[in-house]
Amino acid sequence: MRVDLHLHSSASDGKLSPAELVQQAAQLGIDIISIADHDSVEGVDPALEAARLYPSLRVVPAVEINTDVPRGEVHILGYFIDHRREELRDKLAALRHSRYGRARGMVAKLQGLGLRVDWGRVLELAAGGAIGRPHVAQALVEAGYVSNAKEAFERYIGRDGPAYVDRVKLTPAEAVQLIVRTGGLAVLAHPAGIPQLEAMLSQLKAVGLVGLEAYYDGYPAETSAWLSELSRNNRLIITGGSDFHGPGSSVDTVLGGIEVPWEQVQRLFAMAWQRSCPGAFPI
Ligand SMILES: [Zn+2]
Ligand SMILES: [Zn+2]
Repeated sequence: MRVDLHLHSSASDGKLSPAELVQQAAQLGIDIISIADHDSVEGVDPALEAARLYPSLRVVPAVEINTDVPRGEVHILGYFIDHRREELRDKLAALRHSRYGRARGMVAKLQGLGLRVDWGRVLELAAGGAIGRPHVAQALVEAGYVSNAKEAFERYIGRDGPAYVDRVKLTPAEAVQLIVRTGGLAVLAHPAGIPQLEAMLSQLKAVGLVGLEAYYDGYPAETSAWLSELSRNNRLIITGGSDFHGPGSSVDTVLGGIEVPWEQVQRLFAMAWQRSCPGAFPI
């Protein structure tokens, strides 16, 4: 069985539509995928609909919630959620609107600094999905003010940059609780760089975290081994995914390119089934 539990569609910052992702996954012979868009579940129904054409492919309804900690962001994955639940959709919409206002504010600040960055172009780059700093960064690259996205963050829109704007925030614990209330399983995404990870794990476990994404784009074997050990010590399920954003994006791993121990995938699905998660299905 081939599984990829971390994909982004054009409902957030992915380049492919949910239907295109489903089609590609099916063509690659992948059995199970998860559409886990940033602060959005708008891609889930189109993916489920598209998957009806491919009987061998199953889609796990999911979301990746971007949350804030003092020195950066922590991402929480929610699997098998009830993606139609109003509370979830409302909260995610509020987060996205705050992103919109924030991106707009950053463009205004850049213009105030004398940089000709076009808001319309930023919107185009977001293509109707969850707008974010990567889109502003790309507009800066296109306009020739920086040579790449990294430089855009360092010089302008990073936390200490002159065009940085704050936004509405959710803590990691609040995101875990929201996923739990929506009937889903909460997993800490790409945790390798999180400061004081062990403290965060015990804090999040107390509010319902069940897994850790130990296999991930760019993680060397020793990082995955360390995170797997941490998962075992904390009785968490090990998950993994490519974080595929489509061709030509900053993520290198191809769709389905991350292997996760099958017994861990089974544990995740068994837990979803036992807990009667709305998006659960037997494998
Ligand atoms: Zn992420
Ligand atoms: Zn992601």
